[in-house]
Formats: sequence, structure tokens, C-alpha cells
Amino acid sequence: MEASALSKSNNQDDNHRGASPYVDRNEPRPQGVDLKRIEAAVREILDAVGEDPDREGLLETPARVARMYAEMFAGLKHDAGRHLAKVFTEKYDEIVLVRDISFCSMCEHHLLPFTGTAHIAYLPSGKVVGLSKLARVVEEVARRPQVQERMTETVADLIEQRLEARGVAVVCEATHSCMTMRGVRKPGSLCITSSMRGVFRDDSSSRAEVLGLINRGA
Ligand SMILES: [Zn+2]
Repeated sequence: MEASALSKSNNQDDNHRGASPYVDRNEPRPQGVDLKRIEAAVREILDAVGEDPDREGLLETPARVARMYAEMFAGLKHDAGRHLAKVFTEKYDEIVLVRDISFCSMCEHHLLPFTGTAHIAYLPSGKVVGLSKLARVVEEVARRPQVQERMTETVADLIEQRLEARGVAVVCEATHSCMTMRGVRKPGSLCITSSMRGVFRDDSSSRAEVLGLINRGA
């Protein structure tokens, strides 16, 4: 993420109206991760920074990093929306909220982690989903090269589309290593993003209600 987009930005009021530039942000790439190519690339980086990739402490590093990337980017292989395929028919038509879903993602601009929590609320239209499935969606959307803004929108889109929810609110707050340990080096800065769909976007009192629930205890 670029530093200009950070600085505790809270875009709850302009919430991404209009066409989105991201068309296929949840499209799976089933080919998976090529471990051998990552290993070769990590060796090359170690060499390029002036290290000796053959010294004892670094011998297993390329393979270790390759396995780590396979884990961090495991979400690329899947359609995260598949976790929302199993729904239950319920008359309940009030807000469902899951707060404080922790996630760890990788900033696609620096390949450094950003970590934080996601809060998800939706207003069902007869379909509800197991609560842990919402956490699985966050987990899988996070496990790919990401920017926090797109991650927030992807989660909101999936819930809106797959559950046909009348309203969706997703708020993510995260600390970005690319901002705390390099560049401007501002430890403690928090980036907040939100995506509102349906009634939470269109109706200010519904939005205020859901944001009140999300922010309670924050
Ligand atoms: Zn970054």
C-alpha cells in the first residue's frame, strides 16, 4: 500500500460508489505455487544483497521462504465464495455481526505483511450462513497479494452476492509493515477501510446503527 493512502483513512462516508476498477478480484488461479521457482528467486535475492546463499545459516532459507509463500498465498487457488455456498433458510431479518476476525495478509506493493481485524455485518434476506464461514472468507481473501481496500470490497461483494443480503458492512483495520518498518516508519498507525452495500450504503440510519454495533467495545 502506498503511504499516501494510509494515515488513518476512514472512508465510511464516501464508501466506494460507482464502478469498481477491480473486475476479477476473486477469480481463482488453480495452478498453485511453483516452489522451485521461488527457491531460485530467493537465492538470487540473497546473492544480490551481498549475502552468501551457501553459508550454513542460509542453506535452507530459500526452501523455507518458498513454503511460507505457498501458505501466505494459498488463497489464490480458490474462490473464497465457496464457503458461502451452504446457507440456511431463516426468518431472522435483523443484523448479523461478527467482530474482530483477525487476519494476516501481504501488501502487494512491498510483499510485507499487514495484520489486523475485520468486522462483518449483514442483513439477511432469508438466507443465513454459519458464522465461522465469514471468518473463512476473510482468511482466504487475505491469503493473496493484497491491498486492504480491495480486500474489504471483495469480502463485501462476496457476501452481498452469495447470500443475497439486503445489506452488508465490512470494516477492516490493520497495521501495515511497509509503513511501520520502512519508508516513513510510523509504528502504531492504523489503516481503516469500509465497504457498505445495500441498505447500509443507501440508508444513513441503518449505516449508523451497524457502525455503532461494529464500533462498540472498539
Ligand atoms: Zn506496502
